[in-house]
Amino acid sequence: MTARVIDGKAVAREVRDEVASGVQRLLAAGGTAPGLATVLVGDDPASEVYVRNKRRLSVEAGMVDLHRHLPGDVDQATLEALLDELAADPAVSGILLQLPVPKHLDADALVARIPAEKDVDGLTTLNAGLLAQGRPGLRPCTPAGVLRLLDEYDVALSGVEAVVVGRSPLVGKPMAQLLLGRHATLTTCHSRTKDVAEVCRRADVLVVAAGIPGLIGADAVKPGATVIDVGIHRGENGLVGDVRYDEVAEVAGLLTPVPGGVGPMTIAMLLANTLTAAIAQQGLLEELGG
Ligand code: NAP
Repeated sequence: MTARVIDGKAVAREVRDEVASGVQRLLAAGGTAPGLATVLVGDDPASEVYVRNKRRLSVEAGMVDLHRHLPGDVDQATLEALLDELAADPAVSGILLQLPVPKHLDADALVARIPAEKDVDGLTTLNAGLLAQGRPGLRPCTPAGVLRLLDEYDVALSGVEAVVVGRSPLVGKPMAQLLLGRHATLTTCHSRTKDVAEVCRRADVLVVAAGIPGLIGADAVKPGATVIDVGIHRGENGLVGDVRYDEVAEVAGLLTPVPGGVGPMTIAMLLANTLTAAIAQQGLLEELGG
């Protein structure tokens, strides 16, 4: 078997177009354009690239760029004061604190300053709790993007065996909860799992977010399964994922590439969250939907 390849770039473009149309509908309904405040601390080159792309694509979708850049030696109190200011500013629909922040800062305490309704990364305790309870809220962008890919490719989730490798608060845990919310029979693997390949072989839908290049090979994939690779690593020959693409492509039915799979979806879902947040804050949820 040779797997069908999931085109994350195309789906991400579709989501961004939907968001751009949604922004126009918001303006036509008398609302104001969503404002996205990305907050970057320090000069980490990878973070700078991520933030630059988020800003560029938010402007392309018709949003207002309210970016803030602080020096790497900023103290906790100054950063908390900035987040409080953004929280109170009605022009700011969404706040995205680019992680990781420098080690001398308390990231959890910083995220806690972001009001849940502006938490477009879906990382606050309130949004995580709403997800855990299956109630509406802003969802973490990467797992939300994976769910959208699965839906675009009509992958059945109700009643199927789904396995998520990884249990981070950013990816694995919310991914598992989103799949549970769609009635999958769910198993999570992590670093203490005794035989990861054996558990993964059960999966009709396998989502891998372990952060270990090439962790998952053909021996861990059920023939015909859908395999979503969240991992991103810069290797000698460019970007690679957590899945050994060439060998898994021979076994899987549907597979995401790296790059061009999950990656582009993360920013697209950030824009979708920012629009949803703006619509809710402007009291237009009933008129325009989420
Ligand atoms: P993380 O915080 O390091 O979490 C990794 C998870 O994998 C942990 O739960 C860990 O288990 C588990 N794990 C580690 N080794 C394992 C093993 N040998 N077998 C099974 N599970 C194992 O990473 P993350 O933030 O979730 O990110 C995961 C990957 O996705 C990274 O490569 C990251 O770069 C990528 N990523 C991509 C995007 C995107 O837009 N495409 C977005 C975010 C992240 P324990 O809990 O037991 O330690």
